Amino acid sequence: AAKHAGRGCLRSFDPAMQAAVEARSRLESELREALVDWQFQLVYQLQVGEGDHAIGAEALVRWMHPRRGLIGPSEFIALAEETGLIVPMGRALLERVCLQLCAWSEDPQMSEVTVSFNISAREMGEPDFVDAVIEILQRTGVPVRRLKLELTESALLGDVDDIAARMHRLRAHGVSFSLDDFGTGFSSLSYLKRLPFDQLKIDRSFVRDILEDNVDAHLSRAIVALAASLGLSVVAEGVELAAQGEMLRTFGCSRFQGFLFGEPMSAEAFTEALHTAAARQTVAGALAD
Ligand code: C2E
Ligand code: MG
Ligand code: MG
Ligand code: MG
Repeated sequence: AAKHAGRGCLRSFDPAMQAAVEARSRLESELREALVDWQFQLVYQLQVGEGDHAIGAEALVRWMHPRRGLIGPSEFIALAEETGLIVPMGRALLERVCLQLCAWSEDPQMSEVTVSFNISAREMGEPDFVDAVIEILQRTGVPVRRLKLELTESALLGDVDDIAARMHRLRAHGVSFSLDDFGTGFSSLSYLKRLPFDQLKIDRSFVRDILEDNVDAHLSRAIVALAASLGLSVVAEGVELAAQGEMLRTFGCSRFQGFLFGEPMSAEAFTEALHTAAARQTVAGALAD
């Protein structure tokens, strides 16, 4: 009988589909509530440079769900984008990142740390995106040179000239840009030609199999060379093994992010980790003298 119920009605007779629709709408209303109650938290994952020296962090959002506990972005960012909730969420998160950078700028051990923050397609596409970001930069008084925005190719769909103009306006205020998940999309190279990026991030999918898969190794090497010839810095994501980092180093990559160097952690834990590392280096330096 369901078959003859007509377009649209059919769905409600499929129990699995029905359950999925209900789960989604429940998650959506929970997400709205989470925004009002502010159930989100930012964690920071270390990025290292030469000699495993701390150079920065990527800020990553987590949702402290009242029933389910800590939830990662893969479970809610897509829905937040579809519903547009990512827009107010992203702005509130960016403000917090800026305030964190302000606090770190007062701490000699942390003042050189650069923080990367992810911007999704829906956020980038908002007509007032640039104005909203500039307003946050000015209101918080963040040291803008320490702020980097990460964009994936999906955030670059749409009118390239318009996106370039947006990026240039923000650059004029001191913001820099990183092209995230580089190499996983279809038109990375044309974006590099037309948009003012400062950095490429080699996607985790290349790094993961770099030791076993020759193609991944060759591609990683080519990405590093490409970045160098365009004058961009390059960060390898998802480095879990020392041997992966060593291979990338032989390709000329000197900036890394991954579980090998640290998992994402609270701002407090991150600050403490860097203080401890700095103290250890000072002691090592003193011992070496
Ligand atoms: P992404 O920007 O590519 O972030 C890197 C992801 O890789 C993070 O996952 C990080 O925890 C994970 N990762 C880092 N090192 C390793 C490693 O060594 N091994 C493995 N297996 N994974 C590693 P996470 O935190 O789950 O974030 C997933 C994605 O969600 C991010 O990918 C980003 O696209 C998005 N996202 C996270 N936070 C935000 C946010 O505040 N705003 C927006 N718009 N998107 C966000
Ligand atoms: Mg990222
Ligand atoms: Mg990435
Ligand atoms: Mg990713």
